[in-house]
Amino acid sequence: MSKSVGNVANCLCGSVKIRVKNIDPKFTVCHCSSCQTWGGGPLFMLQCGTDVVFEGKESIKEYESSAWASRGFCSKCGTHLFSRFKKTGTYNMPVGLFPTTEGLEMTMQYFSDLKPDYYCFSNETAEMTEAEIYAHFSSQL
Ligand SMILES: [Zn+2]
Ligand SMILES: [Zn+2]
Repeated sequence: MSKSVGNVANCLCGSVKIRVKNIDPKFTVCHCSSCQTWGGGPLFMLQCGTDVVFEGKESIKEYESSAWASRGFCSKCGTHLFSRFKKTGTYNMPVGLFPTTEGLEMTMQYFSDLKPDYYCFSNETAEMTEAEIYAHFSSQL
Protein backbone atom coordinates (compact mmCIF):
# COMPACT_ATOMS: atom_id res chain seq x y z
CA MET A 1 0.00 0.00 0.00
CA SER A 2 2.89 2.36 0.66
CA LYS A 3 3.70 2.39 -3.05
CA SER A 4 0.28 3.74 -4.04
CA VAL A 5 1.52 7.33 -3.85
CA GLY A 6 3.95 6.72 -6.64
CA ASN A 7 1.42 4.94 -8.80
CA VAL A 8 -1.15 7.70 -9.12
CA ALA A 9 -1.00 10.28 -11.89
CA ASN A 10 -2.98 13.36 -12.89
CA CYS A 11 -3.08 15.22 -16.19
CA LEU A 12 -2.25 18.94 -16.16
CA CYS A 13 -5.86 20.09 -15.80
CA GLY A 14 -6.85 17.35 -13.36
CA SER A 15 -9.69 15.97 -15.48
CA VAL A 16 -7.98 12.58 -15.74
CA LYS A 17 -6.63 10.56 -12.83
CA ILE A 18 -4.77 7.31 -13.34
CA ARG A 19 -4.10 4.58 -10.82
CA VAL A 20 -1.66 1.82 -11.77
CA LYS A 21 -1.34 -1.36 -9.72
CA ASN A 22 2.11 -2.44 -10.85
CA ILE A 23 4.75 -0.18 -12.36
CA ASP A 24 8.09 -1.49 -13.51
CA PRO A 25 10.47 1.31 -12.45
CA LYS A 26 12.99 0.30 -15.10
CA PHE A 27 11.85 2.50 -17.97
CA THR A 28 12.48 2.74 -21.69
CA VAL A 29 13.29 5.73 -23.85
CA CYS A 30 11.89 5.59 -27.38
CA HIS A 31 13.56 7.54 -30.18
CA CYS A 32 11.12 6.58 -32.97
CA SER A 33 9.67 9.22 -35.27
CA SER A 34 6.13 8.74 -33.91
CA CYS A 35 7.29 9.50 -30.37
CA GLN A 36 9.37 12.46 -31.58
CA THR A 37 6.36 13.89 -33.38
CA TRP A 38 3.95 13.19 -30.54
CA GLY A 39 6.02 14.70 -27.74
CA GLY A 40 8.61 16.87 -29.45
CA GLY A 41 11.45 14.62 -28.31
CA PRO A 42 12.19 11.10 -27.17
CA LEU A 43 9.52 9.48 -25.04
CA PHE A 44 10.26 8.14 -21.54
CA MET A 45 7.87 5.25 -20.99
CA LEU A 46 7.06 3.02 -18.00
CA GLN A 47 5.55 -0.41 -18.42
CA CYS A 48 2.29 -0.36 -16.49
CA GLY A 49 0.68 -3.68 -17.43
CA THR A 50 -3.08 -4.00 -17.77
CA ASP A 51 -4.20 -3.29 -14.20
CA VAL A 52 -4.91 0.40 -14.74
CA VAL A 53 -7.89 2.43 -13.49
CA PHE A 54 -8.89 5.73 -15.07
CA GLU A 55 -11.04 8.47 -13.56
CA GLY A 56 -12.42 11.04 -16.00
CA LYS A 57 -12.39 8.64 -18.92
CA GLU A 58 -14.72 10.95 -20.86
CA SER A 59 -11.83 13.42 -21.18
CA ILE A 60 -9.46 10.87 -22.73
CA LYS A 61 -9.07 10.81 -26.49
CA GLU A 62 -7.24 7.97 -28.22
CA TYR A 63 -5.40 8.23 -31.48
CA GLU A 64 -4.61 5.09 -33.44
CA SER A 65 -0.94 5.77 -34.09
CA SER A 66 -0.18 2.41 -35.67
CA ALA A 67 -1.86 -0.86 -36.56
CA TRP A 68 -0.89 -2.33 -33.20
CA ALA A 69 -1.08 0.54 -30.73
CA SER A 70 -2.97 3.70 -29.86
CA ARG A 71 -1.94 6.80 -27.93
CA GLY A 72 -4.16 8.45 -25.34
CA PHE A 73 -4.21 12.07 -24.22
CA CYS A 74 -6.40 14.45 -22.24
CA SER A 75 -8.74 16.25 -24.63
CA LYS A 76 -8.87 19.31 -22.34
CA CYS A 77 -5.19 19.98 -21.57
CA GLY A 78 -3.32 17.75 -24.04
CA THR A 79 -1.31 15.82 -21.46
CA HIS A 80 0.02 12.62 -22.99
CA LEU A 81 -1.28 9.72 -20.90
CA PHE A 82 -0.38 6.40 -22.48
CA SER A 83 0.25 4.17 -25.42
CA ARG A 84 -1.72 0.95 -25.43
CA PHE A 85 -0.98 -2.26 -27.27
CA LYS A 86 -4.21 -3.45 -28.86
CA LYS A 87 -3.37 -7.12 -28.80
CA THR A 88 -2.28 -7.39 -25.17
CA GLY A 89 -4.10 -4.38 -23.70
CA THR A 90 -0.93 -3.37 -21.87
CA TYR A 91 -0.23 0.28 -21.15
CA ASN A 92 2.99 2.23 -21.35
CA MET A 93 2.88 5.60 -19.61
CA PRO A 94 5.18 8.61 -19.51
CA VAL A 95 7.67 8.54 -16.63
CA GLY A 96 6.97 12.20 -15.88
CA LEU A 97 3.44 11.36 -14.77
CA PHE A 98 4.85 9.19 -11.97
CA PRO A 99 7.82 11.15 -10.60
CA THR A 100 7.58 9.69 -7.10
CA THR A 101 7.76 6.06 -8.18
CA GLU A 102 10.65 4.43 -6.34
CA GLY A 103 13.66 3.05 -8.14
CA LEU A 104 13.17 4.79 -11.49
CA GLU A 105 15.99 3.78 -13.79
CA MET A 106 16.55 4.22 -17.52
CA THR A 107 17.50 0.76 -18.72
CA MET A 108 16.59 0.57 -22.41
CA GLN A 109 16.55 2.75 -25.52
CA TYR A 110 14.30 1.74 -28.43
CA PHE A 111 14.96 2.63 -32.07
CA SER A 112 18.50 3.63 -31.20
CA ASP A 113 19.35 3.73 -34.91
CA LEU A 114 16.62 6.34 -35.50
CA LYS A 115 17.83 8.74 -32.78
CA PRO A 116 18.54 12.21 -34.18
CA ASP A 117 22.14 13.42 -33.88
CA TYR A 118 21.21 16.57 -31.96
CA TYR A 119 20.96 14.89 -28.55
CA CYS A 120 22.34 11.90 -26.67
CA PHE A 121 22.01 10.53 -23.14
CA SER A 122 24.97 9.65 -20.96
CA ASN A 123 22.95 6.95 -19.13
CA GLU A 124 24.38 3.49 -19.63
CA THR A 125 21.49 1.48 -21.09
CA ALA A 126 20.75 -1.42 -23.37
CA GLU A 127 19.68 -0.42 -26.88
CA MET A 128 17.56 -1.95 -29.61
CA THR A 129 17.51 -0.95 -33.27
CA GLU A 130 14.41 -0.84 -35.44
CA ALA A 131 15.19 -4.29 -36.92
CA GLU A 132 15.80 -5.80 -33.47
CA ILE A 133 12.53 -4.39 -32.14
CA TYR A 134 10.42 -5.74 -34.98
CA ALA A 135 12.06 -9.14 -34.64
CA HIS A 136 11.56 -9.19 -30.87
CA PHE A 137 8.00 -7.86 -30.69
CA SER A 138 6.56 -9.40 -33.84
CA SER A 139 4.24 -11.53 -31.71
CA GLN A 140 2.58 -8.37 -30.32
CA LEU A 141 2.19 -6.57 -33.64
ZN1 LIG B 1 -6.26 17.29 -18.63
ZN1 LIG C 1 8.41 5.50 -30.13
